[in-house]
Amino acid sequence: MEKDHAAEGKPFVFNWGPGLFIIAYHAILLFGLPLYFFYCDTSSWGLVLFSTILMYITGLSITVGYHRLYSHAAYKLHPAIEAVIIFFGTMAAQGSAIRWSFDHRHHHAFVDTDRDPYSINKGFWYAHFIWLFEKPKPIESTVVPDLMKNPLLRFQHKHYGLLMLATNLMAVVFTGWVFKDYLGAVVFAFFVRMFFLHHFTWFINSLAHTWGSRHFSQEHSAVDNYVIALLTFGEGYHNYHHTFASDYRNGIRWYHFDPSKWSIWILHKLGLARQLKRVQRVQIEERLLLDRKRVLLEKFPAAFQLQKEEWEKKISALIDSVLSKLKQLRKLKEEYLQMKKEKKGEKEQLLNLKKEIKQIKQLLAQEGKQWDVLSGELANSSS
Ligand SMILES: [Zn+2]
Ligand SMILES: [Zn+2]
Repeated sequence: MEKDHAAEGKPFVFNWGPGLFIIAYHAILLFGLPLYFFYCDTSSWGLVLFSTILMYITGLSITVGYHRLYSHAAYKLHPAIEAVIIFFGTMAAQGSAIRWSFDHRHHHAFVDTDRDPYSINKGFWYAHFIWLFEKPKPIESTVVPDLMKNPLLRFQHKHYGLLMLATNLMAVVFTGWVFKDYLGAVVFAFFVRMFFLHHFTWFINSLAHTWGSRHFSQEHSAVDNYVIALLTFGEGYHNYHHTFASDYRNGIRWYHFDPSKWSIWILHKLGLARQLKRVQRVQIEERLLLDRKRVLLEKFPAAFQLQKEEWEKKISALIDSVLSKLKQLRKLKEEYLQMKKEKKGEKEQLLNLKKEIKQIKQLLAQEGKQWDVLSGELANSSS
């Protein structure tokens, strides 16, 4: 990717295929939907619900498949499920998985620069969908060598246009046949589904780089936002994702709304997905601490410049101490769980381990307070 050419100063060349498709279906919806409701509002709620489910399945195929499986290789999937994901991913009308992943790998490698294909620095609407109207750069196999080896993906890429039309035709015909309403199927299972599916996916590049907080890293524009997660099939924890892109999860807590993570986890439990990559808790805590340290030192008051080295030492010593305790805590917890699982060890041993865990947690809480005091002192001296 290092040899990649910078996109700076490149003239805007219209991307006819996707460009016309997007403009056409928006125009048809804008003028056609009011006419449809005025003249033939006969669609059943069943048809609308079915189209919504189809929107969700096609959307999840993008996040679970195109994004987490192909772009980031965050886990491995059974070929039969891969075929299903490619089928519905094709129906999502977002290009082939190879094209999508090529762009997305560039997005991560060059985020917020001119080489980022949907850089938020070019504006909200550019990142949302204007970038799709611009002719993309040719695919370099060196960026997606793993995907080029996959015969299913090569086939999808080669025949993408035809397959996209065929899968959507199947969606419409099937929905029309089930509900005996072909016009309603065209309206809801194709046009309305496409509108919501596209904008929900596009929110990841626009809203998830604009509106939210940056818990894990300040080095890029990606943000975490629960509301965006609700709209983007769980991709709203985007600051975490840009910081730890290989993790199969975006929302790391159990209560984080991340249906893509849950789907992968269920597939794993069914024996259909394996080698799920997870960033260890200690590594996440380490990243959080380093980020806080950077922020703290950046705010370092000018008056304290002379003592900067001393302060740096203080902060680093505290961080090292917290990190070593976190590692110790993890080891003890693993030991405790293993003992319980294997039902070995005396009750007393288990109790001792529990005690040790409690003690480390107390020490960590004390160090947390020290951290607050340290931050407070720095904040006060800078005001
Ligand atoms: Zn992003
Ligand atoms: Zn990503």
